[in-house]
Amino acid sequence: MILLISDLHLEQERPDISRAFLHFLETRAVEAQALYILGDFFEVWIGDDAISPFQRSIAQALRQLSERGTRIYLMHGNRDFLLGKAFCQEAGCRLLPDPSVIELNGERVLLMHGDSLCTRDTSYMKLRRWLRNPVSLFILRNLPLSTRQKLARKLRNESSAQTRMKASDIVDVTPDEVLRIMAAHGVRTLIHGHTHRPATHQLHVNGQAAQRIVLGDWDKQGWALQVDKKGFNQLPFNL
Ligand code: MN
Repeated sequence: MILLISDLHLEQERPDISRAFLHFLETRAVEAQALYILGDFFEVWIGDDAISPFQRSIAQALRQLSERGTRIYLMHGNRDFLLGKAFCQEAGCRLLPDPSVIELNGERVLLMHGDSLCTRDTSYMKLRRWLRNPVSLFILRNLPLSTRQKLARKLRNESSAQTRMKASDIVDVTPDEVLRIMAAHGVRTLIHGHTHRPATHQLHVNGQAAQRIVLGDWDKQGWALQVDKKGFNQLPFNL
């Protein structure tokens, strides 16, 4: 059994979410062969060198899970794209590039965070291209901590006016971009998060039946996609 989650937006100010996540690790994830975290795991991440005691406790919980035999894969989201090797080493997880193709139930499946599918948000796409450029990343990682904190606050204020992101605040994916990237990778299943609109969409890629599974964000409830012999099943649970 494999589990996929995304958009927990973990932060110290939401102990209900981190408590539910720790419970999820001890009860469900421990039964899984692998846990995939598809981005926006943390609400904000300004560098592995700025890890807080709260974030360190989450890293330790992940490490315990990996030591008990569950492989953990972590993909960057738009909030935590500065998560780096030091965090992964501490948390016992592996960084997964966005996009990545993996095999689930003998089928090739495309995994993404999902922000790159929202091509209609042109100002964000421009910012994303700049932020994810290797040169910009190098500069960002080497900025003084206080400058990075200021920058993160500025980005957050612009994106959500300091309220928690709701589905209505986030531009949805561009349908044509979904078809294009699924065709380019030759897959019939795409799994992503980011939009906070959990659902399974049936579609056609090159005339073949296909599906796009959108993972839910953890806010009013938690969500996890379970993949086993019974197929792909996503159910909410109480926080
Ligand atoms: Mn996101």
